Amino acid sequence: MTYSDFKGIKVSKLGFGNMRLPSVDGRRGEYPIDYPEAHKMIDLAMKNGVNYYDTAYVYQDGDSERCVGQAMKNYPRDSFYIATKFNYRANPDYKAVFKKQLERLQTDHIDFYLLHCMTERNIDNLLNCGCIEYFEQMKKEGKITYFGFSSHAQPDTLRRFADAYKWDFAQIQMNYLDWEFGTAKEEYDILTKRNIPVIVMESVRGGRLSSLTPELDARLQQAQPGWSVSSWAFRWLMTHDNVLVMLSGMSNMEQVEDNLHTFEKDNALDTEQVAFLKEITHEFKAGFTVPCTSCHYCTPGCPMKLDIPELLKVYNDYKYNRRWEDNLKDVEPDKLPGNCIGCGSCTEHCPQNIDVPSYMAKLSKLHQSGQED
Ligand code: SF4
Ligand code: SF4
Repeated sequence: MTYSDFKGIKVSKLGFGNMRLPSVDGRRGEYPIDYPEAHKMIDLAMKNGVNYYDTAYVYQDGDSERCVGQAMKNYPRDSFYIATKFNYRANPDYKAVFKKQLERLQTDHIDFYLLHCMTERNIDNLLNCGCIEYFEQMKKEGKITYFGFSSHAQPDTLRRFADAYKWDFAQIQMNYLDWEFGTAKEEYDILTKRNIPVIVMESVRGGRLSSLTPELDARLQQAQPGWSVSSWAFRWLMTHDNVLVMLSGMSNMEQVEDNLHTFEKDNALDTEQVAFLKEITHEFKAGFTVPCTSCHYCTPGCPMKLDIPELLKVYNDYKYNRRWEDNLKDVEPDKLPGNCIGCGSCTEHCPQNIDVPSYMAKLSKLHQSGQED
């Protein structure tokens, strides 16, 4: 196992994310958790030197904290670090939440405590509700060792929050896809400039980077036989000096074993491999994105007056983020993709030759049934 130096302690670079532990009904990330199976996974990680265990008040309906607490009873308290989080939306009563978390985790202190999922919507609540002062007090009393936050906010909001307090660390979504096409690079730079160490979540983007396409997976495997597709994501993260811990939400033994293999030693990609992965990333994105440039050449001729480029943006966002409901909820009923009559006028006018009616049909199906195909 490889370790990061952090304020005089050594933290394993691989962090065990406990948000998708196996459930008793065989699904992952649900309640109740299959404790024997989850504990076997944690035991294997402990045996191989993983000492960072991440959970949260809300994961798996609170069962994740209970499951981790029980697993860790078998180990000396100074042989592992627990990270857990206060979620304002789930329960704004921070004192009650913290008390409950200590109970569930069967401990008298939390090593890494985070304000969970800071966004544009809750930043003012988090800054003004008194929780920061309270957790600061808990830190003084030794019930919290390091205090940080996790963010799903845009860079400007992250900047504001990062400057609001002297944070020990922060957790952001970072992976090679979001670095290239999202805001991960900007977020990483904001934190690095302020000397705030980064804990990475969504290292493999909820599994999206565990398998790209059959063709791209084969190219990655041909370039480095024996490396899993997921391991490329971790090896890419290892090239960033300010990354303290890389979280992986593990659901089965196979994933634990693969991650342990990846983190056996410093396996950071070299410059050539980084360039190769960048090429793969661009091909991957191009393969699933509709190349609409929003030129609007198609819209005047649409008999149904659909905002075609906006709808294609919704489709692209779905392919990239699996998000679409919010994006369609404010569209007028007569402007929804299901109103497309397939006349083909748009495609005729499209310089990119996009088969718009087929995407309108896919989006409409998604809107009606929640599934694209
Ligand atoms: S095919 Fe659909 S989206 Fe395209 S112009 Fe006709 S009605 Fe509008
Ligand atoms: S003409 Fe083609 S590229 Fe331009 S907005 Fe319409 S679909 Fe997009």
